[in-house]
Amino acid sequence: MWQLPVTIAVVLLSQGIYSRNTGDPGFLPSPSINWMRGVAARMSRNNNNEQTMDEGPFDRVMYNNSQVWKACGTDDKFQQELAKLKNNNMIAMWGGNVTCLDIMVRAPYVKKLNESFGKSKINFEVIIENLQDAIDNENPPVETLELDNRQGKKPSNRMYLGRPKTYRQVEADSVNESHRLSWQAYHRLTDIHGYLDYLGETYPQICSVKTIGSSVQGRPIKMIKISNGRAGNKAIWMDGGIHAREWISPASVTYIINQIVLKYDSDPLLESVDWYITPVLNPDGYEYSHNVDRLWRKNRRGSGFCTGTDLNRNFGHKWGGPGASANPCAETYRGNSAFSEPETTAVRNFISQPNIPWKAYLSFHSYGQYILYPWGFDSSVPADYRELDRVGQKAVAAIQQVGGPRYALGSSGKLLYPATGGSDDWAKGTMGIKYAYTLELRDNGRYGFVLPAHYIQPTAAEAYAAVRAIVSEV
Ligand SMILES: [Zn+2]
Repeated sequence: MWQLPVTIAVVLLSQGIYSRNTGDPGFLPSPSINWMRGVAARMSRNNNNEQTMDEGPFDRVMYNNSQVWKACGTDDKFQQELAKLKNNNMIAMWGGNVTCLDIMVRAPYVKKLNESFGKSKINFEVIIENLQDAIDNENPPVETLELDNRQGKKPSNRMYLGRPKTYRQVEADSVNESHRLSWQAYHRLTDIHGYLDYLGETYPQICSVKTIGSSVQGRPIKMIKISNGRAGNKAIWMDGGIHAREWISPASVTYIINQIVLKYDSDPLLESVDWYITPVLNPDGYEYSHNVDRLWRKNRRGSGFCTGTDLNRNFGHKWGGPGASANPCAETYRGNSAFSEPETTAVRNFISQPNIPWKAYLSFHSYGQYILYPWGFDSSVPADYRELDRVGQKAVAAIQQVGGPRYALGSSGKLLYPATGGSDDWAKGTMGIKYAYTLELRDNGRYGFVLPAHYIQPTAAEAYAAVRAIVSEV
């Protein structure tokens, strides 16, 4: 999700308070946040190394009786009022556009703001009555899902892609019978990485899994390459999970991986591409958003009062400009320097290898239902923006053809607002990858970041349709 500039100071201040509390359980909690002591919940059943890197046990950040409102207005008074509320840490910004903003109203201020908005004649609508309820109802426990739904489509015993399997394939099948990933729930990192490893072991002819770097806390950043190795293939990069709380992003990216693998031998387009896909680029933040604070956005650099760097402000094209904060407490903190973070460095190091014929860079976020192309650093557009727009329109149409909503298309700096240090600006501006897009997936504000898991399948299916449309045009 892009972050509105007007909200930066306020949001970061509020997030700083979260960080202080969660980093130091002895700190007196902010009165605006309800706390529940307990061990970081929902540990995965898988008992591998990744669990030992959890930061917990922590107090979980609770949002009981906090609400999400859509507030609309265009005049200065409206902007000033919201800025004041942000500065007082009474609200946090979620998203929206130039006329309407989604704001999270902290529980102790709901009544007061109800009255003051009424007096100021600010139009608003309560979108989420009780944010903690929405969080609690978002994601069914993975343990309740039918195991059959998590096993993926197993290849037949002796054949694969119409050819006899190699000995290694058959052996791999017996080693790793299944995986735990589904697209009916949001899964922990270990399930997602387990799924990638499963594909690498089950389909070694086309899938290979590589760790392209390690997070601040030492978690692997895993990338899967899907390729038949044919010379002349186009190279396509996809990533998800730069922003921790945007759970629909890794869910959709893993769905896309699954579609590519399952349809590989029946869709010539898929075979003409070398796919490089990293579903969780910010593994520390992702786990933290499961364990501690559902609304965590940044990575987990540092500790205490102001933790984390916004990875999508840390890429090195015109780094440090508008829409990226120099304040470490800010939710859009850009970091010490361009590529100061190991997560962004991993992407830079991989993509800047010589001899990979990159055609497209696709980064998945939520929410808002936008297809965005550069530039983000200001409201100008690249010289070839008409071509980016043409291909983007194909993606918009493809999403509608599979029953999805109409996504808005445009350059991010123009359609939304300037934000410097984004990965798509770097991909195009520095690396020269012509087709660089950021896809902001569902929804448009009904649930925002807390999108119920039953929306994973339709959202991911439209994301796959968009990818297919883009790749067929580049
Ligand atoms: Zn985002």
